[in-house]
Amino acid sequence: MDARESALLESLHTGVFVNGEWRESSTGARFGVDDPATGQQLTTVADASPEDAMAALDAAAAAQDAWAATAPRVRGEILRTAFEAITARTEDFALLMTIEMGKALPEARGEVAYGAEFLRWFSEEAVRIAGRYQTAPDGKTRFMVLRKPVGPSLLITPWNFPLAMATRKAGAAIAAGCTMVIKPAQLTPLTTLLFTQVMVDAGLPAGVLNVIPTTRAGATTGPLLADPRLRKLSFTGSTEVGVRLLQQAAPNVLRTSMELGGNAPFLVFADADLDAAIEGALAAKLRNIGEACTAANRFYVQREVAGEFSRRLAERFAAKVVGRGTEDGVDVGPLIDERSRDKVHGLVTDAVARGAKVVTGGCAVDGPGWFYCPTVLADVPADATVATEEIFGPVAPIVVFDTEDEAVALANSTPFGLIAYAYTTDLNRALRLPERIESGMLGLNAGVISNPAAPFGGVKQSGLGREGGFEGIDEYLSTMYVGIPSPF
Ligand code: NAD
Repeated sequence: MDARESALLESLHTGVFVNGEWRESSTGARFGVDDPATGQQLTTVADASPEDAMAALDAAAAAQDAWAATAPRVRGEILRTAFEAITARTEDFALLMTIEMGKALPEARGEVAYGAEFLRWFSEEAVRIAGRYQTAPDGKTRFMVLRKPVGPSLLITPWNFPLAMATRKAGAAIAAGCTMVIKPAQLTPLTTLLFTQVMVDAGLPAGVLNVIPTTRAGATTGPLLADPRLRKLSFTGSTEVGVRLLQQAAPNVLRTSMELGGNAPFLVFADADLDAAIEGALAAKLRNIGEACTAANRFYVQREVAGEFSRRLAERFAAKVVGRGTEDGVDVGPLIDERSRDKVHGLVTDAVARGAKVVTGGCAVDGPGWFYCPTVLADVPADATVATEEIFGPVAPIVVFDTEDEAVALANSTPFGLIAYAYTTDLNRALRLPERIESGMLGLNAGVISNPAAPFGGVKQSGLGREGGFEGIDEYLSTMYVGIPSPF
């Protein structure tokens, strides 16, 4: 760890944040946060207990009415101030994300811009929460329709985008007038803690945003889900945990937003611009070390171009520099932990046993740290586990297809439906594919399409609801209809 990293870590608040105060956990326990590139502990963080979580909900519930009554412009200006502050501290946020999560610094800077932009976007949405006044069809009554904040919300975030997953939820909740309890991922809580301090400095009142880092996710959030004061759960993470949380949210009929796992197909038709498809494939696969819900998981390439596509993609993968994300020139950082690295290697080994060919990569890189080399697999059977499970690593399995019908059937042959990618220059095909592909998002001749101004989310087991875009704030608003007799 160099001097800049040490200074940044020393300047961080590492407590639980409840009702505007940083505190130790009620048990006094702390847990370690490790650098996945070295395996070394960076710092320790207070380990919130169920009692701390309940204190956080108490604070959120107490602050709700005043926050809902705060002028939308004031809520928006706080978000805007925080956007400016995060942008001004890009290097601190980027470094913190790189050392706790692993992504290379240039990518971490990209996430700072993306994550901060949610705050600017929602600062602009805060002042555009509109209702309506309407005459009933029979003319005898009037309808008044109000949009009101849902109320205290629990926001649970994953480790792979430590800033953006927090701002995408908290930005919308703050804009809508909801108070909240954030439970960051155990593996990467530090960025959320710095984000919290920025929100406080931007003027967010005590109790609006509370943070409970913890090693006991279920035990800590379970009592909140059972408490009738909680009105909303927004979760980003695996489908497995999401299903469990939906079950826990059912008794109180909580509003839920679920951003769950993906298994994105990447379709390359023979009529595609192959240069563009290769660039798109690199971005869709290697962004965030492959640890993205939007990562291309399965490459379906039309037979005529499959050989050339595999060869060119492998050349580009082989040229990527693997290493600690703080070092100059590094493209691909470590996977988040040993378990993830072993899982990725297990998927590769299984595919090879079923007849896949390693075109490049195919092995772990010696540690310390959990590195895996960028890997291209050709001749992968469509039912190999590497193509049916979320890989979450830098591995591109290529499956050959012959017809559009076959490609669409393969793309849709999954319980997931977050995002798909398709490369084609045939206009009719490009217009047909969005109607045929079962996913919440489609990159059409594009390998990265996430944008705070666009609705992000999935269908099928990839989730419920949308984040970002005009839709994002709706997740934190409820609709009230007031019936009024005609004044005439
Ligand atoms: P995860 O499901 O293991 O954990 C997500 C969060 O849930 C973490 O904060 C974790 O501590 C918490 N959690 C785990 N068990 C819990 C429980 N019983 N009760 C309450 N909280 C619990 O997922 P992860 O490994 O952190 O993230 C990777 C997954 O997230 C992948 O499947 C990825 O596709 C998905 N993801 C989806 C999106 C999206 O927008 N759709 C974005 C990023 C990641």
